[in-house]
Amino acid sequence: MEGVYHVVCHKCPFEGLYGSATHATVERTAHEQEYDHRVSSLQIERPTPPTEV
Ligand SMILES: [Zn+2]
Repeated sequence: MEGVYHVVCHKCPFEGLYGSATHATVERTAHEQEYDHRVSSLQIERPTPPTEV
């Protein structure tokens, strides 16, 4: 399933948007291990393009 993953750190301004869960997890884990910060990731639904009814 496609989505956008918003990764945000609770202890510093680090955040990012990633187009795959794998990439988001890699960045999240890397930041947690490098800085010993707590990082969460939220899946955001990709906005659907407006369609004519
Ligand atoms: Zn941080």
